[in-house]
Amino acid sequence: MDLLRRKQSHQDAPDAVLLPGNEDEIATVLRYCSQHGIAVVPFGGGTSVVGGLDPIRGSFAAVVSLDLRRLNALHWLDQISMEAELGAGVTGPDAERLLGEQGFSLGHFPQSFRFATIGGFAATRSSGQDSAGYGRFNDMIRGLTVVTPAGVLDLGRAPESAAGPDLRELFTGSEGVFGVITRVRLRVHPIPESVRYEAWSFPDFATGATALRAVTQIGTGPTVLRLSDEAETGVNLATTGRIGEQSVTGGCLAITLFEGSAAHTESRHAETRAVLAAHGGTSLGEDPARAWEHGRFDAPYLRDSLLAAGALCETLETATTWSNLATLKSAVTEALTSALAESGTPALVMCHISHVYPTGASLYFTVVAGQRGDVTQQWMAAKVAASEAISRSGATITHHHAVGADHRRWMTAEIGELGVKVLQAVKQAVDPAGILNPGKLIP
Ligand SMILES: Cc1cc2nc3c(=O)[nH]c(=O)nc-3n(C[C@H](O)[C@H](O)[C@H](O)COP(=O)(O)OP(=O)(O)OC[C@H]3O[C@@H](n4cnc5c(N)ncnc54)[C@H](O)[C@@H]3O)c2cc1C
Repeated sequence: MDLLRRKQSHQDAPDAVLLPGNEDEIATVLRYCSQHGIAVVPFGGGTSVVGGLDPIRGSFAAVVSLDLRRLNALHWLDQISMEAELGAGVTGPDAERLLGEQGFSLGHFPQSFRFATIGGFAATRSSGQDSAGYGRFNDMIRGLTVVTPAGVLDLGRAPESAAGPDLRELFTGSEGVFGVITRVRLRVHPIPESVRYEAWSFPDFATGATALRAVTQIGTGPTVLRLSDEAETGVNLATTGRIGEQSVTGGCLAITLFEGSAAHTESRHAETRAVLAAHGGTSLGEDPARAWEHGRFDAPYLRDSLLAAGALCETLETATTWSNLATLKSAVTEALTSALAESGTPALVMCHISHVYPTGASLYFTVVAGQRGDVTQQWMAAKVAASEAISRSGATITHHHAVGADHRRWMTAEIGELGVKVLQAVKQAVDPAGILNPGKLIP
């Protein structure tokens, strides 16, 4: 949506871009902006796709962007506890490089990996492609330092604690409205000594989803586990002509990947294969899984070419329980197809599962259609229809893209009016002048 807006109309700019180098400077900026009524938008890697960085002034006279790129240090790595503290501005590749120099890895690989930052991951409850093995970013967080207009919070002093509600969770996913995350303490692991790959074909999405559920609920432990539906698999086949060495027609492609010590990787791989085969899967060997890993950050760049060629290409994502997954998928597909048909174009709606949990999974939709009229309005109508379908189905409005400005109107349905009041009360406590990221997250 952000890309579409930028292509279609002029872009609002902040009145200034500030590049603080440390927490004292951030505290000074927040104090000054609170006193002078200036809105502040924390800026990580700039990859938000939900309007999270829009320079909305709200009721303020000016808005500044607080670019956190200078907070780019690995502060420490405790090799015994396997914990590291990274600055909020460290990008995905730099995190892997800095940890890798000492033989460690974070294992957080969202598709925005190349640009997004540690602070941005924390602020949006990001989920990477290896989430089956290493968890979501919020699972990795052991502690946070947050500079708010009201003072500094240093949260998380032990691996786990019973000292009241976990305040780390309040700031994880706070999208810059409560404070500026400056440092994140994270669980890390040694660079894996062994990696195994295997791709699978399932006759249809329902069969594949049941197989993924079995793997997840039994807990056989893949690092990556994902499944494309028939439409997405079809596009893969059409663009590559084949899947690996196999001649496959139709069906649904699943990818598995295993990392760890050689013995542990081997045993998890063997157990997972047995479950997938027992649930109707046919092995396609290593190549398609290696090919997926090789190109896994590239697909978004296609959107520029598609837009230039007159196609609308957008994505949205959600999550629900396993028992509600098929209903949700149909409801969202129908909502998107109908809304785009009304604008005068057929639509290709593709879907995949890329994040799995014992009780449910995410659904990620990619939509391609012809551009008709005002394309931002055209997509907005489809996006609203899909979001209403998600909300009616009892699923979450976002599994990992976050709320930003675009999903804000569905937050009351998501957490209830009392939930919104709780967020407003926290905002009042930490940001009494309301300068931080107005127009985002909190309705
Ligand atoms: C091509 C593409 C693919 C993507 N794939 C994924 C994916 O696989 N998984 C996924 O989870 N997300 C994905 N995203 C969404 C996006 O990358 C994530 O939301 C990411 O976590 C944002 O990180 P960032 O550093 O770019 O933050 P930004 O985009 O700069 O900021 C995001 C929000 O967090 C706030 N913020 C940023 N840094 C801080 C800070 N230090 N303190 C307080 N607030 C802060 C901002 O104000 C903003 O509201 C994708 C985006 C794109 C463009």
